[in-house]
Amino acid sequence: PVDRLPEIQEARLRLPILAEEQVIMEAVRENECVVLCGETGSGKTTQVPQFLYEAGYASSGGIIGVTEPRRVAAISMSHRVATEMNLPSGVVSYQIRYEGNVTENTKIKFMTDGVLLKEIQKDFLLQKYRVVIIDEAHERSVYTDILIGLLSRIVPLRNKKGLPMKLIIMSATLRVEDFTENKRLFRTPPPVIKVEARQFAVTVHFNKRTPVDNYTGEAFRGILVFLTGQAEVHSVCRRLRKAFPYRPHREHTGSVLCSQSLSQSLPRINLDSYSALPADEGDEDRQAGIDDDYNEGSDLELELGDHPDSDHGERLIFKNEKICSSYCSIQLVFRPPPAGARLCVIATNVAETSLTIPGVKYVVDCGRVKKRFYDRVTGVSSFKVTWISQASANQRAGRAGRTEPGHCYRLYSSAVFGDFSLFSEAEITRRPVDDLVLQMKDLNIEKVVNFPFPTPPSSEALISAEQLLISLGALEEPPRHGRARLSCPITPLGRAMAAFPVAPRYAKMLALGRQQGCMPYIITIVAAMTVREIFEDYDRPAGSEEESTKMAGKKARSVQMRRLWAGQGQSVQLGDLMVLLGAVGACEFAGCTHQFCEENGLRYKAMLEIRRLRGQLTNAVNAVCSDAGVYVDNQMAPPTESQVLCLRQIVLAGLGDHIARRVQAEELLDPKWRNGYKTPLLDDPVFIHPSSALHKTLPEFVVYQEIMETTKMYMRGVCAVQAE
Ligand code: ADP
Ligand code: MG
Repeated sequence: PVDRLPEIQEARLRLPILAEEQVIMEAVRENECVVLCGETGSGKTTQVPQFLYEAGYASSGGIIGVTEPRRVAAISMSHRVATEMNLPSGVVSYQIRYEGNVTENTKIKFMTDGVLLKEIQKDFLLQKYRVVIIDEAHERSVYTDILIGLLSRIVPLRNKKGLPMKLIIMSATLRVEDFTENKRLFRTPPPVIKVEARQFAVTVHFNKRTPVDNYTGEAFRGILVFLTGQAEVHSVCRRLRKAFPYRPHREHTGSVLCSQSLSQSLPRINLDSYSALPADEGDEDRQAGIDDDYNEGSDLELELGDHPDSDHGERLIFKNEKICSSYCSIQLVFRPPPAGARLCVIATNVAETSLTIPGVKYVVDCGRVKKRFYDRVTGVSSFKVTWISQASANQRAGRAGRTEPGHCYRLYSSAVFGDFSLFSEAEITRRPVDDLVLQMKDLNIEKVVNFPFPTPPSSEALISAEQLLISLGALEEPPRHGRARLSCPITPLGRAMAAFPVAPRYAKMLALGRQQGCMPYIITIVAAMTVREIFEDYDRPAGSEEESTKMAGKKARSVQMRRLWAGQGQSVQLGDLMVLLGAVGACEFAGCTHQFCEENGLRYKAMLEIRRLRGQLTNAVNAVCSDAGVYVDNQMAPPTESQVLCLRQIVLAGLGDHIARRVQAEELLDPKWRNGYKTPLLDDPVFIHPSSALHKTLPEFVVYQEIMETTKMYMRGVCAVQAE
């Protein structure tokens, strides 16, 4: 029996899902798999695990597993459910890539989808679970899709073996045909249970015109504001703070401000306390290197007090050196704002479905989202701001109607809305799949094409993934004639690579890292390459002249430091990779403090991430080769000249197909090729970015981590190689 506090019990009873408990539990009893749809806030994530617990699914040793595509959701939901059930965190626990509080007594376990995928590799039947809930399935994250494919096989197998198991797929939208009407996935379509829609009506107001650029200006009058990225979030927060400085001791400042400063089109609002949610706080359990768009702007800014200096937000977050910094801040968003103030949350689409922020009445939706795009043939990637889908727009609007009737202000016209696609595409169709193919081969799924994907990736993507894996030595070379495409078995090297939680190229580097004592360096380089950006951006538009001067000074210091770090290892040029190594080394030597990062142009969050990843990769290396004996050294000396040579070879082994050659003088017919590099797959030149350590040197041959298209096609993570 669960002993809930009376106020919790009262709040639960108001959730629409409570009325469906019988229906849901009956369907779960009668079926191996059930699909549950219900709008955000209807109570799926917090209540369904409790229903299952109370129905005895966690008694007799089994546990209830819940997967989330985002780390922040896994952590905050486990805390919320523990609170609601009045149970300790050792019983309702979470596990994300770096940390967790799971114990032997855990009955309900929230985790990221990547964690469960790793567990399937260890125990294909997932024997410790009685029920697996796949949450936020509508997001169609790659790991969610793969898990559904795998579980569609695991669940019947378990039941055949007399070890019964249930699968519950939960979605915030009604679009579940990819799961239910997919005969390869489920021969008998699973039943779909719909939970009554949101409690209150939301009035939607379209703009007459659709501003092309200055839509952040329009969003200025918001309450839950959806924007596309970190820069926009910060700029709107800054403007809000300026216009509505928080004065904690004056009563009802807000309403005065409201009538004076805000347009009549919005009913009485006061904007006194602001906070920013992370831009899509990613789940770094995803294979590293491909989670960048999730990482995008994962910094938090949070202000709940009278602190004009914007550093306050950061201090608030980082005052506790512990890893769960972002989570602490998220909890603050859930907390009621101070009296006389109203919470204004500026967010990217992280707030679209996975987090329910209480008390939101107004939503301002810019209608856009920032996404990473990959060119399927060339692998060139770019971030673009695009229109969201109608489904997303409706999700965003829905956030306004949880506690009372609400309003959603769309910063675009109804005609533009009419042109939105109905639904967003599944992520798996939009990105390379080499990491997935390797993981699947490691699960002994040889014919990846036959896998029951809810939405299969393109065959081009599968073929290029297999080719890359063959070239890295992770899969056996196919006989010249004979074996069908896409059925090459995994090699022992491939198995070792699959054990590393990074993309195959980086896993290959780790697998080679033991020569000449290079492993600690390779671990550091791989960890740093995996984090999207370690340097602070001082080129972003400044709010004032004063700020602009300050940023110029910081930029100069940052440039100087990078030059210093690049200089280690003298004659052999590891280029940007040496900068990464130097930056991490120096930062760790200084104790990885916020101050060191601030003074040297490093992103503190990125450095913490690298620290965690170094620890994790070190453990993984020691687990794969028990005699490796590597450890994380905070006093790591710079590599010797011969180690640098060795490092370069190792890097080349992972990035061998990412090679570029300086355009020769005689080829310089067109001025656009000036200082350009030629790559095998692209007709157009690629360039070394001005911030790169090799920008002035322009070596003849380089390898690069990736090509990112911004104003030009730039190589990122450039390392010089010798022509031999
Ligand atoms: P769903 O998964 O259907 O979107 P949830 O189960 O996440 O819904 O949320 C149900 C309700 O629980 C929310 O409407 C909110 O009122 C409450 N809730 C969820 N998380 C928290 C939290 N951390 N603090 C306070 N209330 C919360
Ligand atoms: Mg939910």
